[in-house]
Amino acid sequence: MGGGNEVGNVGCVIEDNTGTRILIDYGLAPTRPPKYPDQCPPITDAIITHSHIDHIGMVPWLTQFNNVRFHGTSLTSAVSEIMWRDTYKVSKIEGYPLTWDKRDLEYALESWITHDYGEWFTIGAWRCRLHRAGHMPGAAMIEIETPTHRILWSGDLDTRDSPNTIGAKPIKCDILCLEATYGGKKHPNRADEEARFVSEVKKIVERGGVALIPAFASGRGQDILRILYREAPHLNVHYDGMGTRLTRKWFENPEHIKDLETFENVWKWTRKVSSKSDRKKALQADVIVTTSGMLDGGPALWYLNRLRADPSNGILLTGYQAENSGGRKLLEEGKISIFGTLTKIDLDIAQFQLSNHAGHVELCNFATFCEPKNMILFHAPEESRNVIFSELGEKIEIHLPVNGVPIHINS
Ligand SMILES: [Zn+2]
Repeated sequence: MGGGNEVGNVGCVIEDNTGTRILIDYGLAPTRPPKYPDQCPPITDAIITHSHIDHIGMVPWLTQFNNVRFHGTSLTSAVSEIMWRDTYKVSKIEGYPLTWDKRDLEYALESWITHDYGEWFTIGAWRCRLHRAGHMPGAAMIEIETPTHRILWSGDLDTRDSPNTIGAKPIKCDILCLEATYGGKKHPNRADEEARFVSEVKKIVERGGVALIPAFASGRGQDILRILYREAPHLNVHYDGMGTRLTRKWFENPEHIKDLETFENVWKWTRKVSSKSDRKKALQADVIVTTSGMLDGGPALWYLNRLRADPSNGILLTGYQAENSGGRKLLEEGKISIFGTLTKIDLDIAQFQLSNHAGHVELCNFATFCEPKNMILFHAPEESRNVIFSELGEKIEIHLPVNGVPIHINS
């Protein structure tokens, strides 16, 4: 229904001749205006891989089906409330249509069934279990055992360890549904990229400036805090935005956090911004880490507007900047819309690849270890899927889904 031949906006129904049918993920693409997946046929059970908005944003709409159950990890369930309330608020402020309302949201919060990694549960004639996906704390891959096939749905995947998570491990299966966001792309060495990032932060601070670091609330921001604590604990680092509330959910579900003790120390060291006066104080900081990660709103724009007058300040973008996003416009044109006015920004802008998606080599190795007969490549631009297709297409039967068109697998 979505996320076939595109990144994000994921929604997919799987069914077989036992009559069992499940939905996996139901997100929206947070573009302006947002992009929504197609309407879902009736289901009783949905499995949600993780709490990023492009996988979870439309889930409250599923409460239209009686007694629907949402399966996911405890952390995905806990964070869903923040994501849904924020989606609802943004849709009201921006005037975007949303097919679900506040009552659906409340009902959705009651509809979760949470599962530990590795714990089998039954849906119809199938057994399912979740496995660590590496992408962010609480993110899951889904293993499905039907009477005839073993299916592995990768969710958003990283096989590499990141500051806050342990990487995913392959599982032998007959059908592999693999996200391919970074197909054909080689990530820089993670340690080298982190070192380049830290050195840029230090450069800005040493010349008397403030380093503004827009970062996603769920995963990236906390990764950045860990890196700065480890490499530059003498810096005065402030953290603002939705990530502060979200991180509290992490502590309520600590089994998902890598090296919890260190992260507790990171969190004590981080200065959390929780009021307007905190925000003004943060302007005197060395570093501000805040949302939104693509400079499309949130406190990041407020800070940018205050910091833009002093050229000793700098901006460090920490990931992919989608087309039409504020961050992309800033990179390409040196301008950004601040509260409706297109504004030229004369600050140093640097971009770093601190992605928590597997790169091309990791994706191909993962697929090879899983030894599937069939593989479905989704959540990817066309060119990314094509590169994997040409590398593995002789060994594995590869399907390239298009939104709205079913794929039938008979063998
Ligand atoms: Zn994700």
